[in-house]
Amino acid sequence: MAVAALLLVAGLSYLASAQAPPITIVSREGRKPLPVTAINNQDYISVDDVNTAFLTTSREDRLAGGLTITARGRSIVLTENQNVVSVAGRLVTLPAPPVRRDGRWFVPADFLPRALAVALDTRIDLRRPARLLIVGDVRVPRVVARVDAGANNVAVTLDITPNTETRINAQPGRLIVQFDADALDLSVPLVPTQGFVQSVSPGDTPSTVVLTLGPRYASNRVTTTQPDAGSGRVIIDLLPATTDVAPTPAAPAAAPDTRLTIPTQGPSTGLRTVVIDPGHGCDQLGTQGSKGTLEKEITLSVSRRLRTLIESRLGLKVFLTREDDRTMEPDDRSAFANNHRADVFLSIHANSAVRPSVKGAEVYYLTVERADAEARKRAEETATTLPALGGGSRAIDLILWETAQARYLEQSATLAGLIEQSLRARVGMSPRAVQQAPFRVLVGANMPAALVEIGYLSNAEQEAQLTTAAYQDQVAQALLDALIKFRDFLEH
Ligand SMILES: [Zn+2]
Repeated sequence: MAVAALLLVAGLSYLASAQAPPITIVSREGRKPLPVTAINNQDYISVDDVNTAFLTTSREDRLAGGLTITARGRSIVLTENQNVVSVAGRLVTLPAPPVRRDGRWFVPADFLPRALAVALDTRIDLRRPARLLIVGDVRVPRVVARVDAGANNVAVTLDITPNTETRINAQPGRLIVQFDADALDLSVPLVPTQGFVQSVSPGDTPSTVVLTLGPRYASNRVTTTQPDAGSGRVIIDLLPATTDVAPTPAAPAAAPDTRLTIPTQGPSTGLRTVVIDPGHGCDQLGTQGSKGTLEKEITLSVSRRLRTLIESRLGLKVFLTREDDRTMEPDDRSAFANNHRADVFLSIHANSAVRPSVKGAEVYYLTVERADAEARKRAEETATTLPALGGGSRAIDLILWETAQARYLEQSATLAGLIEQSLRARVGMSPRAVQQAPFRVLVGANMPAALVEIGYLSNAEQEAQLTTAAYQDQVAQALLDALIKFRDFLEH
């Protein structure tokens, strides 16, 4: 009976102790593994390994049943099977007691942040799910990845705490997200089956995450937001090839990046399609009035009114870059207009100024810097002609994205002038009614384009006006009037 009981105890104790996956120590010196032994389902570290990793020493007192670890001249006194230890005279409680196995001492992993950190006077942070031990002043943000599959796209969301800058590098077949950090405390999701992304996984270096792309992936759109003061969020939308742009059979030799090229369509000779761009959206609030009026809501409301007017009065095709409250990058807005082969692109915004007295509507078209003028010349020289698919003789010209709007500046200036005239007849104008500015949203627009600031939300009187249907309708009517005049200009 006694023998059987002893065997049983020995058997249990043998089963209860096993090798566990190591913990990775991340410090200024780099990364190194710390071996882990599972004892009673808890992560334990051998004191020998602690001494190697942290340059501590230890001395056993067999009579007292204790062990003293010396760290930077401070003593940590452990007692076998006691979950209270003394650190330089202070008592620290551990979730499990130190144990002695086969002549070796083991401490629970929590000994490191709770007791050793105090003795070393160093920050030690145990990130249990990621099996990371962060030592000292290193930047190891927590990154939680999520994959949401839509019908025609996939969004990869990275929640980052604390907020950390990221950069995304595209490589063949994958996207690398580089963090401004020493390492990542990364939790990666199970990726649902779809054609855009096969996996989200740790990269080749400690501060990167890799998205391995699938066959449906063609391009991406990255949105960076800050949901609260302490954290950041990066949303990478993985998009399919746009079906309404004629496919290009080969990359043009002259263009360094085929993703940045768009088909040219020559100067507009008529007005058939209008793309209206309601500024901002979702967490891109835009400017905000003192009564809480949000630019993103005003711009969407005015854009919808304008669409209704154009469709009913002119019978043209009208598309909005966004139909609802969503985030959209400037280049994606002009790309939308290009893909829909718009003859005119209008971006709608509301303004704000430091001085509350500033008010009135303003119209902008793109600035021409000398560099732009040179780029324009280069674009004309490097425009590439490719044979159309299907063997026809029709050719698609490709030009560089950055120079798209430069080819339409004269027409855009005319458009801006006509908008200014029409607005002036119906709403108050700012003293500087027509201006040029380097608005990103206009850069890639491959057609005449203007940006309209329909009033100042920072002005109390105008904030009240901007929220009314009457003012919004006046603005929409003025823009309709301008489009009618612009159509005449194009056709005569
Ligand atoms: Zn705006």
